[in-house]
Amino acid sequence: MHGELVLIVEDEDKIAAILVEYLQAAGCRAHRLANGMDVLLWLKVNTPDLILLDRMLPGSDGLVLCREIRQHSAVPIIMITARIEEADRLAGFEQGVDDYICKPFSPKEVVARTTALLRRAQGAIKSAGDIRLVLDRDSYRAMANGHEVVLTAVEFELLSALMASPGRIFSRDEIMDRVYRDFRVVNDRTIDSHIKKLRRKLVQLHLAEDPVRSMYGLGYKFEL
Ligand code: CA
Repeated sequence: MHGELVLIVEDEDKIAAILVEYLQAAGCRAHRLANGMDVLLWLKVNTPDLILLDRMLPGSDGLVLCREIRQHSAVPIIMITARIEEADRLAGFEQGVDDYICKPFSPKEVVARTTALLRRAQGAIKSAGDIRLVLDRDSYRAMANGHEVVLTAVEFELLSALMASPGRIFSRDEIMDRVYRDFRVVNDRTIDSHIKKLRRKLVQLHLAEDPVRSMYGLGYKFEL
């Protein structure tokens, strides 16, 4: 893995510490929250690549939380649960859980399932539509049809945030939250200006249409 950010929502310190250790050893960045009440707020300013979500949490129920997260995010979610009944698992899939891990678990299994799901999610982003638009985080390049362009860090984060949920309209505020993780103060025009430059660069990829669309009065979305 290359520094993918995994959010661990787990109230038991020992389990959380083991998960953090194993995920970091696998090359991920890990952030841990102990209380379910903190999750939605944290997600307003952070964009994890995957969430490991404990089912039984103080402050909220993992399943309810999952449904709330799904209202505004397609981030892969693995639910960690002591309950293994089928009915429970099915309820979870309906709420948008992508995979399950039952306690007690082997940390290696967690890492294996996490990396498998991350790979699947990244594949889905890369193959949006028929055209393969690929982002390489290590070099901040966007590639398609044998062409490539180098993006600035901001342009890369912008495109990556939009691509994570194809078709979803992002307001300028949401884009700012996702792109400027360091709370830098920027205004709407800054976002517009970065989008403009990004689009100018994407033309070089010879895509059939401009994948970054302005939605008048609403914001932007990615569609290929
Ligand atoms: Ca728990």
